[in-house]
Amino acid sequence: MKRIFVAAICLGLLVGCSRTESGPKRKFVTIGTGGVTGVYYPVGGAISKMINRKSAEYGIRASVESTGGSVYNINAVLTGDIEFGVAQSDRQYQAWHGEADWDGTPQKNLRSVFSLHPEIVTLVAADDSGIQSLADLKGKRVNIGNPGSGHRGNALHILAAAGIDPDKDLRAESLKAAEAPKMVQDDRIDAFFYTVGHPAGTIQEATSGKRKVHFVPIVGMEALLEKHPYYATAIIPVEDKLYPMASSTKNVVSIGVVTTFVTSSTVSDDVVYAVVKEVFENLDEFKKLHPALGNLSHASMREGLTAPLHSGAERYYREAGILE
Ligand code: GLU
Repeated sequence: MKRIFVAAICLGLLVGCSRTESGPKRKFVTIGTGGVTGVYYPVGGAISKMINRKSAEYGIRASVESTGGSVYNINAVLTGDIEFGVAQSDRQYQAWHGEADWDGTPQKNLRSVFSLHPEIVTLVAADDSGIQSLADLKGKRVNIGNPGSGHRGNALHILAAAGIDPDKDLRAESLKAAEAPKMVQDDRIDAFFYTVGHPAGTIQEATSGKRKVHFVPIVGMEALLEKHPYYATAIIPVEDKLYPMASSTKNVVSIGVVTTFVTSSTVSDDVVYAVVKEVFENLDEFKKLHPALGNLSHASMREGLTAPLHSGAERYYREAGILE
């Protein structure tokens, strides 16, 4: 009797787990993001919110995972550990073409879904460190980012362009961006790189402490921009008063990329279609979920994609007349 009862509970649980009330099999999907005080994490939350409220209709339940960032997310999507990842456009380009972290192995299963907000390479330095330009970084304690992050690659590109060898000329740290503000405030590092949308919690935290900090312009990058199609000149919009406690008061010149949303060719069309449809058809609402998303448009969300569109995304874009 007891055994039958246990079996009945298990069956009930199974049915409950795999079916929604209306019948279709429920699919659980995970979105890989970044540090919780970055922009990827709340943006991933916004996407999952859009999809979860239609859970009964689509049979999809999305959840968000805080991760090491772009490189980690692309790799986890490709191994099938997660279904979606947020990733910088330059990392998407490199993975598809087999460059940098994917040197010699183009990732042919990578698929693009849409792009999101612009991301700007942000170099934060303590006022008392005397760092006003890239050249001043020499001899300083600088966080260039954890290996799974997207910004580490940007930091390495920029340092090389400025003639700085991170191994010889810096005391380079490889910490996650989320740890950097405290390290600056505790006087354990002098500066850190973070490629991120604005406003970002990490930058708010870094600029709000007792140790005053400012943004360092990233200039002299003409050759880098020429060489890599994914970079563009950008500004950190300091004059928008996003970081009122920062010492910088004027907009700061830098370079930037765009955030993209990626998946794998092995994820089903229905899932990808549902995600794109919900975000595109409720774009005004989606944009209100984070200030960094404020300038998105259907047109901008098709820019900066290197990997082929996932067939589920393509289906939506054709139906909506966005693709011919
Ligand atoms: N761009 C960073 C990265 O790829 C993440 C930025 C964020 O979390 O908003 O690791």
